[in-house]
Amino acid sequence: MGTPGGLVPAPGSGAACPSPLSPVSSALQLALGAALLNVRIPLLLGELVDVVARQAMRRAGDYLREARRPAMRLLSLYSLQGLLTFGYIVLLSRVGEQVAGSMRTALFSSLLRQDVAFFDATRTGQLVTRLTADVQEFKSSFKLVVSQGLRSATQIVGCFASLYLLSPKLTGLLLVVMPSLVGAGALVGSFLRGLSRQAQEQVAKATGVADEVLGNVRTVRAFAMEDRQLEVYCTEVQRSGQLNERLGVGIAVFQGLSNVVLNCIVLGTIFAGGALLAGEELSAGDLMSFLVASQTVQRSMANISVLFGQVVRGLSAGARVFEFMTLEPAVPLCGGARIPSHALRGCICFQGVSFSYPTRPGYQVLRDLSLTLPPGKTVAIVGPSGGGKSTVAALLERFYEPTQGTVTLDGCELGSLDPSWLRGQVIGFISQEPVLFGTTVMENIRFGKPGASDAEVYAAARRANADGFIRSFPEGYDTIVGERGVTLSGGQKQRIAIARALVKDPVVLILDEATSALDAESERVVQEALDRAAAGRTVLVIAHRLSTVQGADLIVVLDGGRVAETGTHAELLRRGGLYAELIRRQAQEQPEPR
Ligand code: ADP
Repeated sequence: MGTPGGLVPAPGSGAACPSPLSPVSSALQLALGAALLNVRIPLLLGELVDVVARQAMRRAGDYLREARRPAMRLLSLYSLQGLLTFGYIVLLSRVGEQVAGSMRTALFSSLLRQDVAFFDATRTGQLVTRLTADVQEFKSSFKLVVSQGLRSATQIVGCFASLYLLSPKLTGLLLVVMPSLVGAGALVGSFLRGLSRQAQEQVAKATGVADEVLGNVRTVRAFAMEDRQLEVYCTEVQRSGQLNERLGVGIAVFQGLSNVVLNCIVLGTIFAGGALLAGEELSAGDLMSFLVASQTVQRSMANISVLFGQVVRGLSAGARVFEFMTLEPAVPLCGGARIPSHALRGCICFQGVSFSYPTRPGYQVLRDLSLTLPPGKTVAIVGPSGGGKSTVAALLERFYEPTQGTVTLDGCELGSLDPSWLRGQVIGFISQEPVLFGTTVMENIRFGKPGASDAEVYAAARRANADGFIRSFPEGYDTIVGERGVTLSGGQKQRIAIARALVKDPVVLILDEATSALDAESERVVQEALDRAAAGRTVLVIAHRLSTVQGADLIVVLDGGRVAETGTHAELLRRGGLYAELIRRQAQEQPEPR
């Protein structure tokens, strides 16, 4: 198991986590102390019982005087043991939280640095599970190993030594019976754990259904699927109920049987011990010590068998967490050259670019693509769906690296430039479905430039045609937009997204089907904002509706990952190729004006 001391705070996270090593060693010492006291306690109990037995036989002497010493020693041992237990549990829970906290921060920081391709291949739910459940599991196992594991192991060794010293014969008897019982118990236990895992997975499945339905409640409502979804959920819940009931019966049988077995061991020990007592090989106190020590051994062995399963689970959870924590992205988030602002013109060149997505390496999305976006000009990419238009934008953002060929900005290869500077300051990106965060309008716009002043935010909103509607809200710029911006209309969301892109005053602007999800009225307002935003910048427009790109300086028609033709709207129409065909098809698809 990885030591918690090996965890380093995430680079740049700023989370200065105190080293959990010293509390761990203190916790270890306290747990060891508590365990050793537990070994000592049965012997003292025996001593006290001997005093009581002597009194019972003699019915004379000063009982109080004789009993006081062992009783007081026992009492102080009990108190000391309580204190040590309190101490190590407090320390362990503090260490556990520190370990879990630094693991979560390090993992989250590592996840945020991963390539976009990593997120294509990994489900978000899986990542969230690693951040939550897996870290929790690892923490619990770590705490259990330190507390229970150490304590139980010490108690087993210590108490066995005491048992042997008290009565080698009785110990021999116990050694015959106990391992087979503990083995049987461990077997049943592992069967029950398997059942419990199944039940948990079923609960997770039911939760998954609820999560998906609640997360997409609008789609469910739109299709009037509430009853059907409820049925699906009910089936999953019933299945998990059945599994949990079966688990309950298993636990009941196990506990009932182990009660009988444990009591039989006590009975057997008293029975056999009685014979030794009669032969004066053992005192009453020794028998008492033996009974308590053997119970301690049984409890400790049971603990260790439970712990074993927990350790296996904890280790695999830890391995899952560390797997992502140590993953290095192909493209680091920052580092590399920056073009000084006075030299930055915004000329983009794709030269012989071929590309396949890492998740589908056999399928070439772009083939030998060459394309120039002159500074300050608007270039539109059109073409059939799936032709690779958005992929061009993704390569420009350096979400992926080209498989072949180069992409340059003002003559510098993108690979040599600082990605955080490129994305944070040079390129503004506006997509079809703008994603807003569940905070205020102000903060959403400031997301484009964290240090922006209020005045800069207002100016960006004005340029994006958004200032008017934002101010019409009772809370103005402090309006909370709701989870993923659900409280806003599509056009409003899009205009906030435009303001967010404009606030960083980018040299290059990418508009990926930015108006295609809007109704005609919203499209007009948003298009107006986009036209204004485009002025003076290099703009790459990816368009589905051809009507929005007729004014572009250059139109590139992309088909099957290749440039099929290029030219202005008039040139391409005249040529009568694929573009003219697309225009004709789109005109047919448009509903007749009434
Ligand atoms: P367009 O924007 O022209 O509709 P895209 O660039 O979105 O086309 O997609 C081009 C091709 O790449 C499609 O076949 C699509 O299925 C595939 N594709 C898009 N994104 C990914 C991805 N993240 N992983 C794997 N394949 C993808």
